[in-house]
Amino acid sequence: MAFDNMDLAAFKGVWVFCEQREGKLMPTDLELISEGRKLADELGSDLTGVLLGDKVDGLCAELGGYGADKVILVDDPALGVYTTDAYTDVICELVQKYKPEVFLIGATNIGRDLGPRCAARLHTGLCADCTHLDVDTSIYQDFLKNNSVLDDARIATTTTAMVMGEKKDVTKEMKMTRPAFGGNLMATIICPRFRPSMATVRPGVLKKGTFDQAKADAVQVVKEAANIDAASLKTKVVEVVKEARKLVDLVGADYIVSIGRGIASDVEKGKALAEELADVLGGVVGGSRVAIDSGWLTADHQVGQTGKTVHPKVYIALGISGAIQHKAGMQDSELIIAVNKDASAPIFEIADYGITGDLFEVAPLLIESFKAAKEA
Ligand code: FAD
Repeated sequence: MAFDNMDLAAFKGVWVFCEQREGKLMPTDLELISEGRKLADELGSDLTGVLLGDKVDGLCAELGGYGADKVILVDDPALGVYTTDAYTDVICELVQKYKPEVFLIGATNIGRDLGPRCAARLHTGLCADCTHLDVDTSIYQDFLKNNSVLDDARIATTTTAMVMGEKKDVTKEMKMTRPAFGGNLMATIICPRFRPSMATVRPGVLKKGTFDQAKADAVQVVKEAANIDAASLKTKVVEVVKEARKLVDLVGADYIVSIGRGIASDVEKGKALAEELADVLGGVVGGSRVAIDSGWLTADHQVGQTGKTVHPKVYIALGISGAIQHKAGMQDSELIIAVNKDASAPIFEIADYGITGDLFEVAPLLIESFKAAKEA
């Protein structure tokens, strides 16, 4: 693919891939559109949503309402159901034509498949699983002041970076921050030699903004043809078989009761207690990676760096130590209650209420007291 993506000045604007399934937007689209709005404002450029699907033009206004100036709509029966090759062909052609500077994609199963494929074909970089994005250097430096152990002198040097042996001004680069080395440190990554700068962001990490009807009415829709060469496609979706199991909605839950290795001595009882406690609160059950790897809960229940990032009103951790990778997914909960028999467990460092004790004794007391409080 002949594509000069080193002429950085030719690339303008922020794009968000807006994933739809069965004609409905994914929640992560609106989170990314809201974040994309912030980045576009920092760059002084436009925000464009890129929407592929079959009869999905009705979704454009919603994207506008959350901040998109424009939606590039590719409506074609061949795009109704996602396939890697058709979507990659269409997106790469659009990128070549319009040359966006920044391209954000949700780190859903589809986004994790599409993003790297497009980045490789476009010969640019992609930073996966970002948790924070900035362009404006002073905003990035404020983020470092509040979220890192770097001193002010070190933070002041972040206006430049060594690129291929040369010191380069990086004030206009998108700064993509993500956990590295198993979550033990955060790394900020830039893509200074190629465009677009691509990032995937996990669902639930960024906040959705507020809907504005005037912006929804004003969104500009640009229709593009799919130009898909059916003969060149290697994948054909014959049938979509839906899993009968209902996945737990951790990201949208107000109350989460999570279990960890602490239930190991009686898994069935531990799970039953967590379920009852979650029921009383009107919430759902989550778990640490140990609970998932041990087969006690399915993967959709996992909270943490490689699971879901959650922001419930109340998060109750039963028998969870509070490893950094677990905390990464739940530390922004409004209220954290931890039950652990080890008084020095790290989970107590971030808990609003810490109960040192055996969860098999404490959880029934919590259930009773929440029940009593509800009935009072
Ligand atoms: P443990 O660390 O073993 O803690 C069990 C706790 O239960 C202990 O504190 C113990 O005191 C307490 N306990 C035992 N019995 C009782 C009892 N009867 N009553 C009360 N307390 C009791 N982890 C995640 O959770 N989510 C992730 O997304 C994730 N991603 C990871 C990604 C990478 C790259 C890596 C390297 C690791 C990741 N992990 C993740 C794993 C993480 O490092 C920890 O191993 C894991 O979180 C520990 O789970 P736990 O707290 O259930 O178990």
